[in-house]
Amino acid sequence: MLTIRRPISVEEAIERCRARVKLQDIQKVSLYEAEGRVLASPVYADQSLPPFDRSPYDGYAFRAGDTKGATGENRVYLKVIDHIGAGDVSEYIPGEKEAVRIMTGAKLPEATDAVAMFEQAREEKEGFSLRKTFVPGENVSFTGEDVQEGELLLEPGRTITAGVIALLAGAGVAEVPVYKKMKIGIIATGSELVDAGVFPPPGKIRDSNTPMIAASVKEAGAEPVVFAGVRDNEESLRKAVMQALEETDALITTGGVSVGDFDFMPVIYEGVGAEVLFNKVGMRPGSVTTVAVTEKGTFLFGLSGNPSACFTGFELFARPVLRESMGDRLPYRSFEYGRLKEAFPKKNPFTRFVRAEYDRSTGEVSPAGFNKSNAVAALAKANVLVILRGGTSHIEKGEKVAMMMLRDTEGVDRWEIPGHSR
Ligand code: AMP
Ligand code: MG
Repeated sequence: MLTIRRPISVEEAIERCRARVKLQDIQKVSLYEAEGRVLASPVYADQSLPPFDRSPYDGYAFRAGDTKGATGENRVYLKVIDHIGAGDVSEYIPGEKEAVRIMTGAKLPEATDAVAMFEQAREEKEGFSLRKTFVPGENVSFTGEDVQEGELLLEPGRTITAGVIALLAGAGVAEVPVYKKMKIGIIATGSELVDAGVFPPPGKIRDSNTPMIAASVKEAGAEPVVFAGVRDNEESLRKAVMQALEETDALITTGGVSVGDFDFMPVIYEGVGAEVLFNKVGMRPGSVTTVAVTEKGTFLFGLSGNPSACFTGFELFARPVLRESMGDRLPYRSFEYGRLKEAFPKKNPFTRFVRAEYDRSTGEVSPAGFNKSNAVAALAKANVLVILRGGTSHIEKGEKVAMMMLRDTEGVDRWEIPGHSR
């Protein structure tokens, strides 16, 4: 079967994917399991924080009015009538010139409105003395100064970080509503592949893509389900794809999407009735990357077998779909600019993605070594993908280039390269 493939732009391909994203269902997980998941419901404050006026220091609580006129020469003396720590509530109501010895976090006793730190007080026989006038509210941590009861604390679509967990706990959300983790099937195709644990006999190579994609899937917050690699045989491939589709929420295959005699993936998409969103993208590497969607709406990502192309295809198309399906409102890697540390002499007839090492301290970025689509070594070094616009050639040393940041954990809401027009 020979079909003419028309390349579409990277932007168009990404948009076609985005248009088919369906949100995952919601489940509840413990606060201790919520890190990295995406919040699925808004969270409101069920009480103010702090919930009561409290002391921010270890010291004494009293009525500010009792310190009127106090100076170094004219100290005021206060009597200590009680002693409380955090969690305790004093049963006494201090009267004139009376105070409660109070520890950080304890509720201010009734009638008191100021706190002196130990460092501001001098110990006396029955209490302490002060040398300055305190104003009402001095050294008091007020009810609701952090959070007001009823306030919207968190919006859905936020990735849950340690800080978010602190706020959820403060708001009493012990069971957190999050989007379900997608199960992502992974099938490597290719009769030449052997597992990493085997020394490859002549003509064979080790399968780098399966463990790489499993790692990328995990990093994207989903659960990889690895199926056995499949030889380039139409019937075996069809069976493997059908089985994986039944057991997973999306499927990633690597290899077999090109136009070689044994590249059966396009035929198989047809066979399972999937709608092909695109099968050629104006990019290097990975121009044959194919994305299809089944009738049920399940994504099939047909990534190129070349490890660098496979990596790039995952980053550009699969990762954002997974992130957005799992609720993330910032599903795309963020972008920055770097300066090329060395000239890039190649022509870029299509948008080129170059695995590269970016040094934040100097702002310089250098291609991470041998950079052909079948390169594996460069993948290990790269912390960014440099994006060279299609139609350019010989980019000079020192020129500013856009980069997709591979290690930054916070994303952005759209895939748009700063400074690049369409
Ligand atoms: P394909 O996309 O099947 O035409 O494969 C393109 C190139 O990538 C060939 O040189 C394959 O041997 C190689 N390749 C395919 N799959 C893998 C894999 N899982 N790990 C490493 N290399 C692969
Ligand atoms: Mg192959």
